Amino acid sequence: MANLLVTGGAGFIGANFVHYWRVRHPGDSITVLDALTYAGNRANLAGANAVGFVEADIRDQGTVESLLREQNIDTLVHFAAESHVDRSIHGPDAFIDTNVLGTHSLLKAARAVWLGETRKPHRFHHVSTDEVYGSLGADDPAFSETTPYAPNSPYSASKAASDHLVRAYHHTYGLDVTTSNCSNNYGPYQFPEKLIPLFLINALHGRSLPIYGDGMNVRDWLHVEDHCRGIELVIQKGRVGETYCIGGGEELANLTVIDTLCAAVDAAFAQDASLKVRYPNAPAAQGKPTDSLKTWVKDRPGHDRRYAIDERKIRDELGYAPARDFATGFAATLRWYIDNEPWWQAILDGSYRDWVATNYGDR
Ligand code: NAD
Repeated sequence: MANLLVTGGAGFIGANFVHYWRVRHPGDSITVLDALTYAGNRANLAGANAVGFVEADIRDQGTVESLLREQNIDTLVHFAAESHVDRSIHGPDAFIDTNVLGTHSLLKAARAVWLGETRKPHRFHHVSTDEVYGSLGADDPAFSETTPYAPNSPYSASKAASDHLVRAYHHTYGLDVTTSNCSNNYGPYQFPEKLIPLFLINALHGRSLPIYGDGMNVRDWLHVEDHCRGIELVIQKGRVGETYCIGGGEELANLTVIDTLCAAVDAAFAQDASLKVRYPNAPAAQGKPTDSLKTWVKDRPGHDRRYAIDERKIRDELGYAPARDFATGFAATLRWYIDNEPWWQAILDGSYRDWVATNYGDR
């Protein structure tokens, strides 16, 4: 039995992790700490039973220390971050504040309570990204745990800094840490500023699908539940002080992802006549292919060309393997967004911020 504190648990991956953990570890206690920034949405946790929620900033060291003590936390899973590369280009400060200073504040709290007071077994698991490794050429070997860091965006630089701080707190103070560096995630509850939900919603509404540059930037795509499984393995069986790369093993050019998405939307409209009524502006409702919405736009500054993950370490040491390929995971994701329109409509019209008031009447 474990007592978890999950930072950023109202965001995309954190919420999926809470749902995942709740089902597989029903006896564990879970407390979410989240500042509910624009990306935090308490509706993401609806249906996850017996999950405590504290609205607080990870930089509030006193609150984190109190939680570690009072909830007898032994496992801190750290997702909270500013996570959108485009936003980091326009406003890097928030990325430094949360990803660097926020992670450091959590580490200080963990050190003070776990090493200074309780001296019990503990784990600080830090969730990070493959973007810390920079960009690969077409023929370069995939990123692994020994690839030198070379972050290129303010987002990836801030995550790289946080990875180094986590490592330093292990080597310097003896904090029991693990870190995972994962590839691009997709799945339910992803904020509709990221490629897959943004393009799905645009396709349903007949809005353009803006493609950066030549569309040939390559990413390794992983369903969020497979990421959660990888994190679970690292927490349970990973060696303290180690980092593990988590990937899907499916390298896809953005254009391939977008073509898959367009074909899947066309197929969904062909199979489900009600979609034509719900989304009359979709090309698929008007007998046109969804890919007629593709438009090319100026590339993102400093856009990394290719990310790929060599996941041999987590596979060989911990027995990790993604449960689904992109085609299967993507089909389920498309269905989830179609079946959960109120969730994304509430984000688009801003009313998701009222969710707590309408559901609990306490804010
Ligand atoms: P997200 O933006 O969807 O969610 C982030 C959550 O953190 C939100 O709920 C937000 O309210 C919360 N938060 C932000 N600043 C906070 C603060 N100062 N204090 C407390 N809470 C705060 O992000 P995500 O896509 O779910 O990513 C989660 C983690 O996984 C991040 O650390 C990210 O770097 C990492 N990651 C993401 C991906 C991906 O593809 N999305 C891939 C690899 C790693």
